[in-house]
Amino acid sequence: MTKLTRPDLDALPPYVPGRSPADLARELGLPEAIKLASNEVPYGPLPGVVEAVTEAAATAHRYPDMGVLALRAALAERYGVAADRIATGCGSVALAESLVRATCLPGDEVVFAWRSFEAYPIIAATSGATAVRVPNTATHAHDLAAMAAAVTPQTRLVLLCNPNNPTGTALRRAEIDRFLDAVPADVLVVLDEAYREFVTDADVPDGLTYADRPNVVVLRTLSKAWGLAGLRMGFLVAQPEVAGAIRKVVTPFSSSTTAQAAALAALGQADEMRRRCDLVIEERTRLADRVRVLLPEVPETQANFVWLPLGERSVEFARACEAEGVIVRPFAGDGVRVTVGTPAENDAFLKIADTVL
Ligand code: PMP
Repeated sequence: MTKLTRPDLDALPPYVPGRSPADLARELGLPEAIKLASNEVPYGPLPGVVEAVTEAAATAHRYPDMGVLALRAALAERYGVAADRIATGCGSVALAESLVRATCLPGDEVVFAWRSFEAYPIIAATSGATAVRVPNTATHAHDLAAMAAAVTPQTRLVLLCNPNNPTGTALRRAEIDRFLDAVPADVLVVLDEAYREFVTDADVPDGLTYADRPNVVVLRTLSKAWGLAGLRMGFLVAQPEVAGAIRKVVTPFSSSTTAQAAALAALGQADEMRRRCDLVIEERTRLADRVRVLLPEVPETQANFVWLPLGERSVEFARACEAEGVIVRPFAGDGVRVTVGTPAENDAFLKIADTVL
């Protein structure tokens, strides 16, 4: 058959989402399965979100506010920046893609750590950019010295994932300072802070404290702590020129009416968001401490998941969990990422880990 799509896409691995718990429950004949695979918060939408979405759906026949004015104003107020420095997108993954498209011409380089967020190599490749993966340290953290050394005259974008998905490790202020001072002024550095709300280490800086540097972009999502993964809303904070360029590049109307309304309602529930994140953090400590007894190499995590560096045993371990109705996320040959769930969900996972590890 005549090839109608780019031949290089054949070699590109697809993005693999966490498995559906309904599917697994059906397969195992269980009333329900437990999903600890996609770094979601387990408590349902924040109060008022469902009502806001229902109300917004009444205007579903009209296009959304393409300027995202009310939400950008609310984000500007919460994060103490001007609204012209904010761009929103259909999840922060869409904004990461827009950042590559806004900075890279074919052949330009995007530098990121590996292993890190699975979508980075995919969005780099589909945008025609060259992905430059810099191996993490032996303790599963970004190697910022090596990342700075990997920047060449072709580099247009660096993606720092802090805390890092899937290893949970976090970069400290002094090393980020050093890195930003070393990177040329014409390279855009993205601090992808999808898990910022789960950070407890005071030495791990809020990326927004760097946002006044001309070449820094802070990328955030409402999918995790704010509980809106299914509605798709991410945002970034950058200098006005960069944010404006991104607003041009994003797909028109990709921040839907319902997503905008849900995000506004969620932002109005910041105290409840904080309370839920604190519960997750408490459980994270319990889960990580327990797993570390079985597997001492589990790195310290600042996110809502724990990394099990199981190497060649990763897929087999994830299969053993699935056989017991618990979905975790294996990365073949490398490790398994386990999202912090409710205490009961974590207990179910720990019971399996006790037997299998
Ligand atoms: N960045 C990181 C580091 C992530 O882990 C994720 C989600 N897994 C995203 C960005 C994208 O999140 P979303 O598109 O749901 O905002």
